[in-house]
Amino acid sequence: MICSRRWLLKLSAAVGGTSTLAGWFPFLKLDSANMLMQVDDRAGTKGKMQPKATSQAGTHVAVIGAGAFGGWTALYLRRAGARVTLVDAWGPGNSRASSGGETRVIRGTYGPNQPYTKMAARAMQLWKENQTRWNLKLMHQIGVLWMVTAGDDHFERGSLRVLRDAGIPYEELSVQELAARWPQINLEAVHWGIYEPEGGYLTARVACQAVLDGFLAEGGDYKQAAVLPRDLDGGSWDSLSLSDGSKLRADQYAFACGPWLGKLFPETIGNRVRSTRQEVFFFGTPAGDDRLTDAKLPVWADHRDRFLYGIPGNQGRGFKIADDTRGPEFDPTSGERTVSAEALKTIRDYVGFRFPALKDAPLLESRVCQYENSPDNNFIVDRHPRHENVWLLGGGSGHGFKHGPALGEMMAGLVLEQKNPDAPFRLGRFGK
Ligand SMILES: Cc1cc2nc3c(=O)[nH]c(=O)nc-3n(C[C@H](O)[C@H](O)[C@H](O)COP(=O)(O)OP(=O)(O)OC[C@H]3O[C@@H](n4cnc5c(N)ncnc54)[C@H](O)[C@@H]3O)c2cc1C
Repeated sequence: MICSRRWLLKLSAAVGGTSTLAGWFPFLKLDSANMLMQVDDRAGTKGKMQPKATSQAGTHVAVIGAGAFGGWTALYLRRAGARVTLVDAWGPGNSRASSGGETRVIRGTYGPNQPYTKMAARAMQLWKENQTRWNLKLMHQIGVLWMVTAGDDHFERGSLRVLRDAGIPYEELSVQELAARWPQINLEAVHWGIYEPEGGYLTARVACQAVLDGFLAEGGDYKQAAVLPRDLDGGSWDSLSLSDGSKLRADQYAFACGPWLGKLFPETIGNRVRSTRQEVFFFGTPAGDDRLTDAKLPVWADHRDRFLYGIPGNQGRGFKIADDTRGPEFDPTSGERTVSAEALKTIRDYVGFRFPALKDAPLLESRVCQYENSPDNNFIVDRHPRHENVWLLGGGSGHGFKHGPALGEMMAGLVLEQKNPDAPFRLGRFGK
């Protein structure tokens, strides 16, 4: 079965240009028209899985990587009728993977002229659909508050129309309205805010495992093994060598290896996926006080000279906060994952300023994760230039997790219906 879908809009412009924002959205200045796979909105079909024979149903697809991109791709390929083998070196949402850890933000505020708000809207629908199917709570719609602190708010102003067009509810709030609703936030220097009541957070590693469980229940095959990096870029090959000594042969291959994609394809990808070290902190909220937990506070983002964002205390695990600024290069296999004292001090100072009840709060946990950045922070979704049956999928660039199901659905269409990816995702945008 595949989802009934159609491509309504085509991207008109290639990706290029630079950004005024350093953080989550360096692609903002791009002039590409909005694009995205649109769901079929004929009465009664919206959001439902529709059985549909594809030209390549029954084909065998090997998906390498069981993170947010590969796991959902494997699941939707399977639902589209393919025979699918999913392989991962360390398992779905493992602690080295970019999809590891506890939680991720899901929201639609993304600035003007980008494909991701519509993609997020579709993803929200699919997160809902799948968690209902699995009887699990993976998406916690506690709302997302975007605080506009930078002088230039063209990013936020430009987000509003795109949110409206995508059907994502939002409220535009003055500082007075923000103060009345969330007195636990010090709003100094905040000019106004966007509140998305249907945004929130997703459980990360737990969701990756749920996707694998769903995939297995629907007849997929999974193998925990590493694909050996043996000249996959060049030459001709018709099977993959795995770390357990076996071979994996398929009709089509989809590599969703996150920060490792460039290591497997040094020529085609190489440093077009660059891993950067990102530190995440979890502070303890005061005893018996729910003002800084998901009972009373939404997910928040503070767009100032840099982007800081956080997820209020949830599931007893503390108040999460991170700086989206890209850190130094990081090796996802061998990098040590302890946070720096310097970053902890900066974050502690910030948290005490913006959320006064957390002044001097103890650090409960910390993590070092890596972003897998493409040069323009747009995803990479394309066929390998020399291997027609090899797909490369990655470049999540610090914002990919939420889109997992929408990407997976899109990939199933591309691989099985032999469609071409839209321009912002193609490798051709990088030139030779
Ligand atoms: C700190 C942090 C915060 C983030 N916050 C958000 C957020 O709030 N919202 C959001 O939407 N996104 C967020 N992101 C981004 C998002 O998490 C990533 O874009 C997304 O998880 C990438 O998924 P992936 O499947 O491409 O990569 P990964 O999760 O890294 O998956 C790749 C998989 O491939 C496997 N693999 C690699 N090489 C091989 C091999 N040779 N053989 C077999 N298997 C292999 C690995 O084991 C791994 O499981 C954040 C990321 C980080 C690090």
